[in-house]
Amino acid sequence: MRRASCPKTETMKNVLFATSEARPLIKTGGLADVSSALPAALRELGIDCRLLLPGYRQVLAMLDNPLEVARFQGLTGFIDSRLLLGAMPDSGTPVYVLDAPAYFVREGGPYHGNDGIDYADNAERFGLLSRVAALLSGPDTPLDWHPDLLHCNDWQTGLAPAYLHFAGRPAASVMTIHNLAFQGIFSPDMTTRLGLPPESFQVAGLEYYGSLSFLKAGLFYADRITTVSPTYAREIQQEPLGMGMQGLLATRADRLTGILNGIDTADWNPSSDLHLPCEYSARAPSGKRRCKAALQADLGLDVAPEAPLFGVVSRLTHQKGLDWIVQIAPGIIDRGGQLAVLGTGDKAIEAALRDLVNLYPGRVSATIGYDEALSHRIEAGADLFLMPSRFEPCGLNQMYSLRYGAVPVVTDTGGLADTVENDINGFVLADASAHGLWQTVERALALFADKTAWKHMMLAGMTRDFSWERSAREYLRMYEQAAAGQ
Ligand code: ADP
Repeated sequence: MRRASCPKTETMKNVLFATSEARPLIKTGGLADVSSALPAALRELGIDCRLLLPGYRQVLAMLDNPLEVARFQGLTGFIDSRLLLGAMPDSGTPVYVLDAPAYFVREGGPYHGNDGIDYADNAERFGLLSRVAALLSGPDTPLDWHPDLLHCNDWQTGLAPAYLHFAGRPAASVMTIHNLAFQGIFSPDMTTRLGLPPESFQVAGLEYYGSLSFLKAGLFYADRITTVSPTYAREIQQEPLGMGMQGLLATRADRLTGILNGIDTADWNPSSDLHLPCEYSARAPSGKRRCKAALQADLGLDVAPEAPLFGVVSRLTHQKGLDWIVQIAPGIIDRGGQLAVLGTGDKAIEAALRDLVNLYPGRVSATIGYDEALSHRIEAGADLFLMPSRFEPCGLNQMYSLRYGAVPVVTDTGGLADTVENDINGFVLADASAHGLWQTVERALALFADKTAWKHMMLAGMTRDFSWERSAREYLRMYEQAAAGQ
């Protein structure tokens, strides 16, 4: 990334970015991508942005000789822990790792075990993460580095603005919603067990319909709220996407901003992507044909250059409209198309995809699992990319698709609406349903038959600017407003 010309601002020098995942150390979704790219882009703008991350097994295994910089003992409600300081393997961004093995070193994922069931002590685990984030932002920090602002992300860090509030607001805080569907709901008695005053458990506080919500706490007490696209920022102020938080979000509308995520343009660059069998770019797009042939061969699809190849890389969930994709798949095959799906999630959807593979050998491929390299190869090999999400706070895959010339077919919601322009760089569903998806796929197939028009559309997507520098500048402006109490 180019070093920006503007120097760091007078008011905003240090930012602590608290998150529960950051790639390449630990990733379950888009939050991990944002948590590695945004701090790096802010550092390019001259801000000393540092990460705070739980010391999961995977994180400790990947960090190179982290140094112990602090110990936390006797924090009400929590086990003793240590703070390590390391550096992100790729960007070098400093990362504080909260080392509490009994909380974080587990066989399963960050939030639930291999059985898919949430860990019973998630309130304590992420309560501690929030507590330490607030502590490091206040006068009692054991560090000689002081953040001007604490940036919290999703429910796992949502209690931090509450802790800061009850410590006299020593630093400004921002709460970013990456996905409002996850709200960190726990029983009311956790409020005092986690060291928060009993009076904080009220509607004007962290109570959410009789329970404690970590996310609600963040939304209520943070100085500013952001979410990851302008359209989603509007959608969540109403039902149904407000998911119970719409009243609070509408009340705080003057403190709520939507800032579109960027993408990691170094990692997701078809002209230098080491995962691909062949490089290509908007100027020299022909390599995409070879990527398509290689993908078809690798996945056991018929190597058919003219067959429109639809890619899907997704969590296999209802949110992502995978049920609609399953419904229209026979239609795609009937029109001579192919479907390549990579994902994991809902067992019923996984089974339905396996059935499609059996029904249409050589035409449908379903890779059930998580495979970063294959996700790149699908973006490069696909002609079209299906992402009919029922809601989508920002979405990354449609941006990767645009950049890789896999023309996206998306619903008119959230970040999809802010990035895909109907009939210009992709196709937007007129109606969010299986029928609406099918109608849009038919429109896309009609254009696919016109090679010149198709190339024009592909290039419109491939040349758009999705860099993090643009987003980081918007975050910086918003940080300054938060610090100034605006
Ligand atoms: P969400 O965070 O809601 O899952 P996003 O589109 O914002 O959706 O981000 C998803 C991220 O996870 C993208 O980087 C995508 O490539 C990646 N991803 C999702 N499923 C898989 C998978 N099965 N294998 C590899 N990468 C995946």
